[in-house]
Amino acid sequence: MTDYYSTLGVSKNATADEIKKAYRKLAVKYHPDKNPGDKKAESQFKKVSEAYEVLSDDQKRQMYDQFGADALKGGGVGGAAGNGGFSSMEEALRTFMGAFGGAGGSESIFDSFFGQSYGGSQELARQGVSKKTQITITFEEAARGVEKEIAITKYVQCEKCHGSGARSPKDLKNCTTCHGSGYLQQTRGFFSMSTTCPHCHGSGKVIAVPCNECHAVGKIKKKEKIKVPIPAGIEDEMRLKMSGHGDAGEGGGPSGDLYVYIRVTPHDVFKRDGDDLILTLPLTITEASLGCKKEIPRLLSKAPIRLTIPKGTQNGKIFRLKNEGLPNVHGHGKGDLLFHIQVEIPVNLSKEQESLLNAFQKTENSSNSPQKKSFLDKIKVFF
Ligand SMILES: [Zn+2]
Ligand SMILES: [Zn+2]
Repeated sequence: MTDYYSTLGVSKNATADEIKKAYRKLAVKYHPDKNPGDKKAESQFKKVSEAYEVLSDDQKRQMYDQFGADALKGGGVGGAAGNGGFSSMEEALRTFMGAFGGAGGSESIFDSFFGQSYGGSQELARQGVSKKTQITITFEEAARGVEKEIAITKYVQCEKCHGSGARSPKDLKNCTTCHGSGYLQQTRGFFSMSTTCPHCHGSGKVIAVPCNECHAVGKIKKKEKIKVPIPAGIEDEMRLKMSGHGDAGEGGGPSGDLYVYIRVTPHDVFKRDGDDLILTLPLTITEASLGCKKEIPRLLSKAPIRLTIPKGTQNGKIFRLKNEGLPNVHGHGKGDLLFHIQVEIPVNLSKEQESLLNAFQKTENSSNSPQKKSFLDKIKVFF
């Protein structure tokens, strides 16, 4: 006759908490990882797990109290067979995991419980530190593309000790604190935990005689010149990644990267909007009214662009020259060149100019100013 209460060593009035505590204690004691090959412990582990499975469930506990264990087995609850406890270790282990789960998360408790059995030293491969630098280039350089050489100071692997930090391979000894494993086993209550060895920081090795070049660091600071190819069309504040040009890695890890931030100085005449180049072209009122020919400088060549401004060109008009802009930095063609027309109203008129404009004004008619006419037509309704 199975008595779940006595299996767990608790009274019939035990609270859920008492039951859990009792089970945990016994489950740990009989856990197969702690008792490898011990059939008796295995059987006990299954028994306490089955008892806990029933007593930790209010509904099952009630049924058990009223009708006994057979009622549960007959009803198919719990899936146990015979009277030797859970039939499979799998079920017992699942119960065990459940009991150590809940708020704390079963995985972590379980791992720190039995998980570790580290053999040999842990390879601590770490990527080197990535570095940042900045290059300022001219507007023309950004348009054309340029290669810049920069000097950076970074850590490179010590050539003398190949990064080990020891004078010779013989001078790299197993850590005596952790006996070369890199880990220390600690027992806290009934938890056995592994922590990184504080003496060797997990490498399992200590340097008996340091390398006299790098003084046990394994890396030395070195000034290095690097050529940075800056692609045509790059924009202000873009970032280039130079893979592997950061600090050397540790324990065979890869080097870090170098990030080059690009600053582009503004141009006096040209501005950019994405891949488009923008040039503001001032015209006098006579140039704009009568039409004119203009020679516009190109950003990157001496050959000017010849532009014919038609009669009656309005202020704010934009002329677009296809594919005369900047190359796309990702190689997607070229932008356009945009001329923004800015008609300048004459100032500082001489007496003669004033009288000429007065004479002109007398000849003005509504067809000279279609926009003004249209405006006046629209506001007529207000009067
Ligand atoms: Zn150690
Ligand atoms: Zn060295």
